[in-house]
Amino acid sequence: MDLSAADLKAAEAKSTEETATHGEAAESNEVFTTVIDAKEEPSGFAGFGFSEALVKTLTEKGYKEPSPIQAAAFPELMLGRDLVGQAQTGTGKTAAFALPLLERLQKDATKPQALVLAPTRELAMQVAESFKAYSAGHPHLNVLAIYGGSDFRSQIHALKRGVDVVVGTPGRVMDHMRQGTLDTTGLRSLVLDEADEMLRMGFIDDVEWILDQLPEERQVVLFSATMPSEIRRLSKRYLREPAEITIKTKEKEARRIRQRCITLQNSHKLEALNRVLEAVTGEGVIIFARTKAITLNVSESLEAAGHDVAVLNGDVPQNQRERTVERLRKGTVNILVATDVAARGLDVDRIGLVINYDMPFDSEAYVHRIGRTGRAGRSGEAILFVTPRERRFVNNLERAVGQEIEPMAIPSNAEINQSRLDKLRQRLTDAATGEPNQSDEAVLLQELLQRVGQEHDLDPSRLALAALTLAVGDGPLLVQGDESWIQNSGRQRFDRRDGRDGRDGRFGDRRRSERASRPPEDNMQRYRVEVGHRDRVKPGNLVGAIANESGLQGRMIGRIQIFESHSFVDLPKGMPQDVFSSLQRLKVMNRELQISPAS
Ligand code: AMP
Repeated sequence: MDLSAADLKAAEAKSTEETATHGEAAESNEVFTTVIDAKEEPSGFAGFGFSEALVKTLTEKGYKEPSPIQAAAFPELMLGRDLVGQAQTGTGKTAAFALPLLERLQKDATKPQALVLAPTRELAMQVAESFKAYSAGHPHLNVLAIYGGSDFRSQIHALKRGVDVVVGTPGRVMDHMRQGTLDTTGLRSLVLDEADEMLRMGFIDDVEWILDQLPEERQVVLFSATMPSEIRRLSKRYLREPAEITIKTKEKEARRIRQRCITLQNSHKLEALNRVLEAVTGEGVIIFARTKAITLNVSESLEAAGHDVAVLNGDVPQNQRERTVERLRKGTVNILVATDVAARGLDVDRIGLVINYDMPFDSEAYVHRIGRTGRAGRSGEAILFVTPRERRFVNNLERAVGQEIEPMAIPSNAEINQSRLDKLRQRLTDAATGEPNQSDEAVLLQELLQRVGQEHDLDPSRLALAALTLAVGDGPLLVQGDESWIQNSGRQRFDRRDGRDGRDGRFGDRRRSERASRPPEDNMQRYRVEVGHRDRVKPGNLVGAIANESGLQGRMIGRIQIFESHSFVDLPKGMPQDVFSSLQRLKVMNRELQISPAS
């Protein structure tokens, strides 16, 4: 869903404080040079030098004013400058780069002119869709999304037919460049979208390789939600005197998200999850779990409790993923259980609640997880499940979001019952006070009520109570089971100071050594890979690289332990030789994995 006019108005009002550069941005809306239709309100997009066709498209899409990042980026990008933008999704950053790029495309070019790199296929598809939507007034323009997991040959055919804008994931773009099916000699602009995500997923070497192949004269635009040192280095090396824009909404965005955490034993998570879903009402829920096995376990348990649930993990084929995201967007399914990798870049406005069923791998993963809610100006809630042992990592997360994560208790019977009664009252109120139902069925029901009332001489309140009881159904309205375990669940003693190792979101050494002594699960084998902390590798890099580059599915990746110069990764037993060979050569953080079975 689009940013509402009110959101954008509010954003506009704040733009002077939020936009670190570009004093002119705040005034830009008052300069109207293009009149589209004398009867219509003048568009806030006039004055940037956009074509009439584009301004018309934006008006038709209902965009009235540029968002702060757009107002700041348009003038720079229309001049062809390089740009570094620090902004998250939900700020309108796609249009911030897409509109000027589209406007600067040359007609009748024979080679691709703009390339956008995105970390995931979902984001690549979304960005390509945005480009297509914005180019409605330029039907001659061709936009193509290329990403792993979809048919290579059809991409080659499309590229041969002629494409102006290519949006792709780094691995697949690199493949096409290497085999000569993507000609980059005519590129005028390159965009790195969600650069920090690409770094996290281990794509940074590929991105650098791509940047090294590009024409000398080209515009480079880099967008990133966070600015880790690797991204700054990249920007210094490849961007020329870039304009810098920071939309400091991160903290404000985070503040719009109420963050709480529940300390509990692992064995109580499922029961606690069911209780949270009952007591905390949220439109659209995403539950994050670490492994595919857990996503399945959780979804089965929720289904058994009567919830409608969808799953998104590395096993779900591409076409089904798209359908799942669409169902979530439309509200035909309300709960999604997902792994981090599968849900990267997921952009659905109606997510009101994010539940971190498992602790995220690191603080950046947490920031991205909770960023799935509170989108497009809405508020959202995030609840984190932590075991007593993991409590000491909570302050890493708090530092990353600059906000306290409030402690929360597992909802008690009384809270659940209150919530059930509240929901029932709301449904009853809506049904009784809404537009009177005039359907034939409603008339029949009315007659039925009158007849039963007359036959048994019942007063209306008795009749209404009987009807409500029927509507509630057979199950008990109120929960009354044992709840003594709730008090004990988070009791294990912990000391928050224990785990503070001060290394940006990385988990403490004690936990790593505890894990190292645990053998792999039955169906898994432990492998050693030759990258470690010295290479600044994080679990997300290994998961991303192994899952995305070798054909191994995310679900196959088990426990990961990182040490100074090597790491252990648990992978399924009986790995085929060709997968093993491809993993041996796979580079993560610029170093070959050289995978070998751990002794
Ligand atoms: P993004 O940050 O690119 O993911 O955009 C977030 C949402 O805002 C998308 O659904 C866009 O269609 C919408 N959007 C972007 N710019 C504007 C604008 N100026 N006015 C209204 N909606 C917008």
